Order: sequence, then structure tokens, then C-alpha cells
Amino acid sequence: MSGRIPQAFIDELLARADIIEVLGSRLQLRKAGREYKALCPFHNEKTPSFTVSPDKGFYHCFGCGAHGTALGFLMEHDRLPFVEAVEELAGMVGLEVPREDSPAARVQRSHHELLAQAARIYRELLKDAPQAVAYLKARGVDGTTAARYHLGFAPDAWDTVQLRLGGNPEAEQALLTVGLLTENERGRRYDRFRDRIMFPIRDLRGRVVGFGGRVLGDGEPKYLNSPETPVFHKGRELYGLYEARQALRQIGRLVVVEGYMDVIGLARHGIAYAVATLGTATTAEQLARLFRVTDEVVFCFDGDRAGRAAAWRALENALPEAREGRQIGFLFLPEGEDPDSLVAREGANAFEARLATEVQPLSDFLVERLAREVDTDSVDGRARLAEQARPLLARLPPGVYRELLLEKLAATVGLGAARLEKLLAAGAPGVDTARERAATPARPRPRSGRASLVRQALLRLLHCPQAALTGPDPDFLASLERPGAALLQAVIDDIRAHPQITPAMLLEHWREHPEGRHLGRLLDTELLVDDEAAAEEYRDIMLRLGVEARRARIEQLSARAGTLEEAEKAELRALIAASGR
Ligand SMILES: [Zn+2]
Repeated sequence: MSGRIPQAFIDELLARADIIEVLGSRLQLRKAGREYKALCPFHNEKTPSFTVSPDKGFYHCFGCGAHGTALGFLMEHDRLPFVEAVEELAGMVGLEVPREDSPAARVQRSHHELLAQAARIYRELLKDAPQAVAYLKARGVDGTTAARYHLGFAPDAWDTVQLRLGGNPEAEQALLTVGLLTENERGRRYDRFRDRIMFPIRDLRGRVVGFGGRVLGDGEPKYLNSPETPVFHKGRELYGLYEARQALRQIGRLVVVEGYMDVIGLARHGIAYAVATLGTATTAEQLARLFRVTDEVVFCFDGDRAGRAAAWRALENALPEAREGRQIGFLFLPEGEDPDSLVAREGANAFEARLATEVQPLSDFLVERLAREVDTDSVDGRARLAEQARPLLARLPPGVYRELLLEKLAATVGLGAARLEKLLAAGAPGVDTARERAATPARPRPRSGRASLVRQALLRLLHCPQAALTGPDPDFLASLERPGAALLQAVIDDIRAHPQITPAMLLEHWREHPEGRHLGRLLDTELLVDDEAAAEEYRDIMLRLGVEARRARIEQLSARAGTLEEAEKAELRALIAASGR
């Protein structure tokens, strides 16, 4: 998030991390010789083609081509951005992530600091605002809960924050950037939040990234959030997730509600596992975040029409995250009730009893709604049902979960699963082709004959980087006009600059590189030899490439034999001598 992470640290992290431990906590690994095998988490399969090499520190799937290091796995499997994956892995091996302090990182830190200061100011001001305290008390919020969520108050004034944290053009600009100030058309700046109970929104690390504010009087809008800023993205953050993680060691279930007051109302009654989205439908990114800390997510909505429509939107966004081992459900409250009012009226036990008995699984909700809308007794109706189900099913990741859902849908409409699948396929391609394609795992690519020599050399280095230390000097590669020759040379230089490099480090060094990013694809060729043999083969390949480079150079020089300079003539003689002709 802030500051670049030095490559040397990534190297150390990969040297210390045990890929078997990282993947083993998320997959069923079975030892097979020197490697481990598992059912691939990235495509649907019945026999394991997902292979992990503890020595080399990487994994590869021969079915779908997925590959990477422990770090890459956290990014793909846990859906973490790079920096968060580094942090996660560092946490596992007990390392602190160092930062190269960039100007951008300093700016970001100052933004967080500014928001933290504002949160402190609002908290202080709540103590001097009897009307705000009275409001909270009337809603049943006690002091402990208010303190836990760092609740505050923004008085009915234009310049509360501006006066305290502004003062010069630079500071005002920063306040504007983080959304604490706003500006009218005439350029006048003033406090965005006025006469509101303030709810600081904290990210997973506890930093304040934005605010929600509920108006105390009858002003509009009733709820106001910080705008999107460099540190606040509504589609990513969830109100209350940080606090839930603080309160609970193990989170068996998270309940997604609509408002801050719902989170706080539930927490006050001891239900500390509620989170709220920030005025938007739950995004797939938010859901991925929730599933990092729990296996069960329940969406809680008002049982009225609007609530059901919102639930359907949540369902659509949740589909890409639905897979075996995860539970997604919907709880519809009696019409006109929200979690806050309901828990206040009937208590925590009754609310938890609803969670235990009334939650509708995602599959039920989906099938019920689809089946209700069409006449499944008619041929037309079934075709329409297939039409409507297609884009939804296409959003599901392939796997057991998808198959079960298909079966359930088939049973409900009185069709065989195979027949339904045919109906689903019949109308394709539909509007969602791109998404369907994205949801379908890449087919194993046909092996394209013999891999080129350059590819073969790269492949051996990937498995046994140290081969580059003793192999021939790669300078000749510069004159070799073959695809990948420049990459090969750069990889050799990289290894020579880092003699202790492991295969996993090598992969990570090239993560950001447009050409090198595809290095890992080479892993779909299995190397069946040990390191010593790989080094020997590498040497042999390099010698062959050397011969080829020499021949090319000889041809090039011979072509203009009459115009060669002295040095070139000498070079040509040496080349001919070296090639033994
Ligand atoms: Zn796979």
C-alpha cells in the first residue's frame, strides 16, 4: 500500500516460506515422490494434475496451466493484491515488510494521518454534544460500543475540521483530497460533514480511510459517505470488518447488513460479526475479502420488495465467489424491519435463532426465483428458464458447486441435468460470452512440436538457475536473432547477479516484466531430470546456440566480404577457426 517492497526482501521471503505449508493449509496435498499433488483449485478435475515442488518453490497445473510461487498462489487463490500477499506471507514466516519510502508512500501516509486526526477531533467533540449523545442513547448505543467503533460527532458548522487541520493552502488541498472538505462552484471550501454522527471507516489494518455520517436532525442526505479518494474505495472496504476481527479470534460467520447502525446495534447485543457495505451492492472484491476471514457469509435484507431486489443484486455479485467449502446465504427479515430494530426488539438469541433456521442458501434463492418467473411445464417456459439461468451459471467458477446447482435447477423444473445443460448450451453464445470465457479454465494447450532451443534453455534455468553460473558466457546471445534470446540473456544476467537465487525467486523477479511474465508458462513442460542433468543439458543447449550465433555472424560478415574493416576480418577469421572449418 505504501512504499515499494525491495526485491531483496521478496527473495528472503521466498527463501523462508515453505510452499507446502502455505498451499497445504488451503488444499489437500498428497506426497508423490519428491513432489506433492492435489486437485487443482483453479479448474474442475477428478484426478490431480496440480503439482507442487517443495525444492523449487513453485506449483504448476498440467490441466489448466496455472502456475506460480507461494506468493503467486496467495494472489490467485486468496485473491490478494501483490502487496497484501507479501504481507500475508511475511506474517506466516514472521518477517516485517520493509518499505523503500517513495514520495507517493509519504503522501499516502499523510492522508491516513490526516483522517486519523479528524477521527480524534470528532470523537472529542462527541463528548461536548449532549444532543448527539442523547440520540445515540435513544438508539441504545452505550459508551463501550461507541468507544469500540470510535464514534464521533461533527457539529453544525462549516469549518470544524477546516479550522483545526487546514490553515495553509497545502493542508487545505490535502483535506479536500481525502474528502473532509468540499468545494462549491465559486471555489469556496467548507467541511463536508456537518451536524452528523461520525462513523470512521477503518481498513483491515485499522487505519481510518473514510467516514460515514448520519445526520442528527432532518437534513438531507440522511447518510453521507466520504467520496472515493486515493485511500478510500467503496467497492473494497466493509464497515465493521476491522472491528469484527479485533473482537473475535475465529469468525465462523459474517453477516452483511446495510447500515452502520445495524452493525453497531448488533454489536451492542453481542453479535460482533456484522459488517456493512458502504451504500453500494456487495462487490465480488468485498466478498473475496470476507471469505478470507470466514467460510460463511449471510446477507441480511428487509423482506420487502426493495430488499429482495437488493438481495438479487448481491447474489449476482456473489456468484463468482461461490464454490465448495463456502456458504453464502440470505436472511430476509420481517417487512419493514432492519437488523438494528429487530435485535433491539427481540434480542440477540432470537436473532441468532433466525440465523440458525431461516437462512436461505444461495442455491435455493436462485433456483426458487428463476422457477417462479416461468411456467416450467411448457417447452417455451423451460427454454426461457435456460435463457435466464445461462448468464448466472456462467458467472460461477467451474466445480462441484456449479454442478450441484445445475442438478438442483434441473430437478426443480423436472428436467434431467444433461437435458438442461443442452438447453443452456443451445442458445449460446449469449450476451455473457466474454464472462463465460473468463469463467472457463484455459484448456491445456497442445504441445507445439519441439520447443525452441531458447525455450529449452530457459526451462532448464527455471528449474535449476545455478546452471547459468557454470555455463558458457551468454554474450553471443546479443547477436542471435531468435525470439526470447534477449530474455534468456537477461535471465542469465539476473542469476549471475544473484548466485543464491531459487526457482521461485527467479519467477518473482520477472513478475512485472512484460516478457518475463510468461516465464512461468514454460512450466507446462515437465522436466524429468535432476539438477545435475539439467545443468548439463543447459550447457549443451547453450553450446548449440553458440554455434548457431557464430554461423549467423559468419554469414553476415561474409556477405560483405569486400568492405570489411581490419577488426571485422580478424573476427571472421577467429569465428571460422572456432567453428572448426
Ligand atoms: Zn488446473
